[in-house]
Amino acid sequence: MSSTISKNCFEAFQTDDFYTILGITAEEKEDLTDAILKKAYHRKSMEWHPDKRREEGAVAKFQVVADAYRILLDPRMKAIYDAEGLVDDDNFVSSNDEVVNGQEEVQIFNNDQEEVPLYFIIEAPGYEIRQRISGTTTIFVFDFNDPTKFYHFYCHGRNVYSCTKCQKKKHICNASLGERSNGEQYIKMKNDHVCEPIEYYDDETVTITNFEEYKSENGQELFIFDDDDRSNFYKYYYLKPQKCYVCAQCQKNGGKMTQAIIIPKTGELVAEAFHLCLPQPYIPKIKEPNFLIRETKSGNPQITVFADKSKKSCYKFKWHKKSGYVCCNKKCSITGRILKPAKGKKFFQLYKQHKCNPVPYKSS
Ligand SMILES: [Zn+2]
Ligand SMILES: [Zn+2]
Ligand SMILES: [Zn+2]
Repeated sequence: MSSTISKNCFEAFQTDDFYTILGITAEEKEDLTDAILKKAYHRKSMEWHPDKRREEGAVAKFQVVADAYRILLDPRMKAIYDAEGLVDDDNFVSSNDEVVNGQEEVQIFNNDQEEVPLYFIIEAPGYEIRQRISGTTTIFVFDFNDPTKFYHFYCHGRNVYSCTKCQKKKHICNASLGERSNGEQYIKMKNDHVCEPIEYYDDETVTITNFEEYKSENGQELFIFDDDDRSNFYKYYYLKPQKCYVCAQCQKNGGKMTQAIIIPKTGELVAEAFHLCLPQPYIPKIKEPNFLIRETKSGNPQITVFADKSKKSCYKFKWHKKSGYVCCNKKCSITGRILKPAKGKKFFQLYKQHKCNPVPYKSS
């Protein structure tokens, strides 16, 4: 079961956890930089340097420390190591000495399960490399059985690509771009998708027509409607340095997978063709006089939203720096914002359907 590298690790350190071997803390591991890694390696390699340690096993320990460092330093190998550990030594040779022999499709099998290929080597035209609006690269890998369908891989490291739909299901399915000595490129793809392939499309970008742009308390917001009757929408917020909008939900899920830009000259809105997340139900605007803004002594305004036309009952919202206006009912987590379109009056926008019970309205 275990690979040679793993065995060497256990013999030297009783573990094959590289982070433990290099003395990298959980906190450092979370946001591992090359600098932290180099420092840890330097410390440990000095500790086990054969010139300094005469004891038995020092050479083996020194070697394991060097292996751990080499693998964690390479983004592709690190991704594989983090995802599945040291199952197969073949994954941890540097891409320069990878032997592929120019075969049409090389399947590297897991020793334990002969039937399940772990990696596929894919030659052109079995894949396509595309540039996204954001400047990052996307790889399309066509489905082996149905070339009208493909898997979408987004780049999240120097040469680490992950299947976007698998990622959505919290599963890591990696791919990397390789190059042979003759300059030919190929894709090495882990073949354990838990997702279904996507219908092929030509253009990485689409022009959006059904949208609205607003100003809010902390910047700009963009709503892209998914259907003509505006029952579903995506909420985007503006990133100043990048001069583009990103989908709030995609961003919350840790991916920078959906971006939209407005072309200044024409005012045209262009967005990434592939959107990872699903649209949310759109809650219609609450317009004046169906809500009131009331200044308070603390300086933070309160919002009253009337429950119906009689204005006898209402919902109250108080201002929260991070979340916007939050419902005063502690059991409720509904938030809203005051938005202002370029033309027309400001309104109150809820981002989820309000389900809590209204309270009696008292004026004054
Ligand atoms: Zn997948
Ligand atoms: Zn999204
Ligand atoms: Zn509420």
